[in-house]
Amino acid sequence: MYKNRVLTVLFILLLLHIIAVQGVAQQDNLGLKLNKAVLDTDVPPVVVDGRVYLPARDIIESLGGRITWFPALKLLNLNLGKKEVSLVIDIPEAEINGEKVLLQNAPAIIEDRVMIPLEVVQLLTEVEAEWDKTAQEINITSRQPYITSIRSYSHPDKTRIVIDMSEKSTYNIFILSGPDRVVVDIKASLSQLNKEQQEVEVNDLLVSRVRSGQFTPDTVRIVSDLKGKYNSQVFDLTGPNRIVIDVFAPEILLGEAEQLEIPPEAITKPEGIKDGGKQVVVIDPGHGGSQPGAIGYSGLKEKEVVLDIALKLKKMLQEKGFTVYLTREKDVDVALENRPLIAMQKEAAVFVSIHTNSALQKGSPTAKGVETYVLNSRYIGASAKDVADRENKASKLYHYEDNILNQIIADLEESASIGFSLNFADIVQKKLVQHTGLGNRGVKQAPFLVLKGVNMAAVLIEVGFISNPNEEKLLKTPEFREKVALAISQAIQDYLKNMPKDI
Ligand SMILES: [Zn+2]
Repeated sequence: MYKNRVLTVLFILLLLHIIAVQGVAQQDNLGLKLNKAVLDTDVPPVVVDGRVYLPARDIIESLGGRITWFPALKLLNLNLGKKEVSLVIDIPEAEINGEKVLLQNAPAIIEDRVMIPLEVVQLLTEVEAEWDKTAQEINITSRQPYITSIRSYSHPDKTRIVIDMSEKSTYNIFILSGPDRVVVDIKASLSQLNKEQQEVEVNDLLVSRVRSGQFTPDTVRIVSDLKGKYNSQVFDLTGPNRIVIDVFAPEILLGEAEQLEIPPEAITKPEGIKDGGKQVVVIDPGHGGSQPGAIGYSGLKEKEVVLDIALKLKKMLQEKGFTVYLTREKDVDVALENRPLIAMQKEAAVFVSIHTNSALQKGSPTAKGVETYVLNSRYIGASAKDVADRENKASKLYHYEDNILNQIIADLEESASIGFSLNFADIVQKKLVQHTGLGNRGVKQAPFLVLKGVNMAAVLIEVGFISNPNEEKLLKTPEFREKVALAISQAIQDYLKNMPKDI
């Protein structure tokens, strides 16, 4: 009996409360400003019992958060920055990242809208909220500008680092050496980024990574670790607000020259080059270092075969007056993404990536022949997907940025380089079959990372199957490797004879 009476009293109190909420709500509508700008909301903030209620969805989304409403449960889930908050209508309690916090006022449904008390907003984020009674408005201001994300883009000629800001802020720049760094101190808070978002692994030719930390309570320090003494530029943009750090590649990429150990005579153009013609060839022996590539039955490694072919090809082309660069001259690791960048840097007319094929995964050691690939976002030709998957495996990018990659490749398809590459691939494939006597598997198309981003004729060649014991035997011999090199060398010469001056 006692319990029932308590429930009845509670029920009446609740009823009175709802009536009170609705009654007062209609009288005290308020204006709303977020960071000094008028925030238009479907319903205005209201004052109930001297306390401010805000339209939940409008305010949370304006602050950059997410809101999910489960009407059947009267449950409200809010996400903002690192905070996850659960609220239930009419219950003066919040669960913040799994911990219960008592509220002075419960969230409520007012005139069919889900409204949250101002204190919830204050629990969610560092804001100052002021109720300006003369202007009849609520002013919500973030305590300081904050960083919303840190991103990076690798271009052939520069690396761009973008720091997205909640609003415009001031910053100072320091260029430090030993090791080389660009440091930008921004008057802002880093509180909106989690640990993972505070560090960006760039690892291209110019920048190794970008780190950030709350240096002082009101200053964020962003440190870009450079791979050498490169020029940089820092500037800010609006709409949306961001601070941009550009790191520029030098004319001759110092880091790369060291890595490739290009002898000085190779950099000087030999005599006999036609004016205006780009007679630079970049050869890319696949894999290397910790990446052996495909391995044959007798233990022959793809990385060794293709390096030897590349060195032979280089010698042949140099004798014919070409300027030749290799992406690697010995058994070292070269990031997949950096290989086409080297070709761009050298303004190559032709880029050739050399590989040996493997069909072990499919259990078909009888697969044989030569095939030549050009870049495409789609797979064209039997087994094209298997080959692309295998050759792309070395890249971290391949696994989680597949969509971005496909977008870039789709854009590239519009460019003339695909057409040129197809012409070049036809010549290469014909010469390979002619010189090696191996089966003709044709010209195929697939999204190869190593061919990404180049604006020249670029092909990937699979010079026989290392997984086929017969072809592995051939791939072991200097004579066969010489034949492959000769075929590619002749194809390059034939192609460049008729190359258009501009693309
Ligand atoms: Zn390979």
